[in-house]
Amino acid sequence: MSVVRLMVLSLLLAAAGVLMSGCGGETFLISKNEEINIGQQAAADFEREHRIERNTQRSRLVDQIGARIAAAAQPPSYPYKFSVVAEDVNNAFALPGGPVYIYAGLMDELRNDPDQIAWVLGHEATHISHQHAIKRIESAMGAQLLIEIALGGGSSGDIAGIVASLALQNYSRDNEYESDRVGARYSAGAGYDPTAGLLVLQKFRELQGRDPSDLEIMFHSHPGNTDRENSLRQYLNANRLYGQHYRGG
Ligand SMILES: [Zn+2]
Repeated sequence: MSVVRLMVLSLLLAAAGVLMSGCGGETFLISKNEEINIGQQAAADFEREHRIERNTQRSRLVDQIGARIAAAAQPPSYPYKFSVVAEDVNNAFALPGGPVYIYAGLMDELRNDPDQIAWVLGHEATHISHQHAIKRIESAMGAQLLIEIALGGGSSGDIAGIVASLALQNYSRDNEYESDRVGARYSAGAGYDPTAGLLVLQKFRELQGRDPSDLEIMFHSHPGNTDRENSLRQYLNANRLYGQHYRGG
């Protein structure tokens, strides 16, 4: 690569960095319809490999709670769909544009408590409503596009490859804090006890202490790390969201 091209490339990447971190709002490379399509394709792939519970007591409970969480979620609105994965795994996750999955193992761990499940679904719905995954995908696409421009064309961008490699990466800690807090807001808006989120985070801290290999996508704080609990407690206090597991103070 020539020195001039290298300079152009680094300038473009710097500009892209400013653009993509500077505008926290709308995405500009991927339309909302494309975002929903990306998520639906990933959901179809996932559901080919995993069994989804339908018409069980558990899946009906998740349908009910999910519908209320979806109604409480702030715009931009998405076609949310909440499903139970019939596997003994302590996890839940969201795909761009609407699909949310909670594993049967996590529901058992939470003893099918609607308040705790509502907070988990609220947390996942926030990853969607706040476009956490799609913004990361867009940044990667943007960087790749700019590299291609700087290199004078060449290979076309493999969006599917980027989506695949990013879909299963962990969110940033900031994304997690935001989902913990906004999830509590959605949960309260849907008529559930938002302080149940504290109980879920505590339980997971204990779980991780027992078996660190149980580290899944939704929860990846270090054992003994109470930062997320403190951050959520602060938010609940600031917004006067009190309940059974936190009464303020
Ligand atoms: Zn999360």
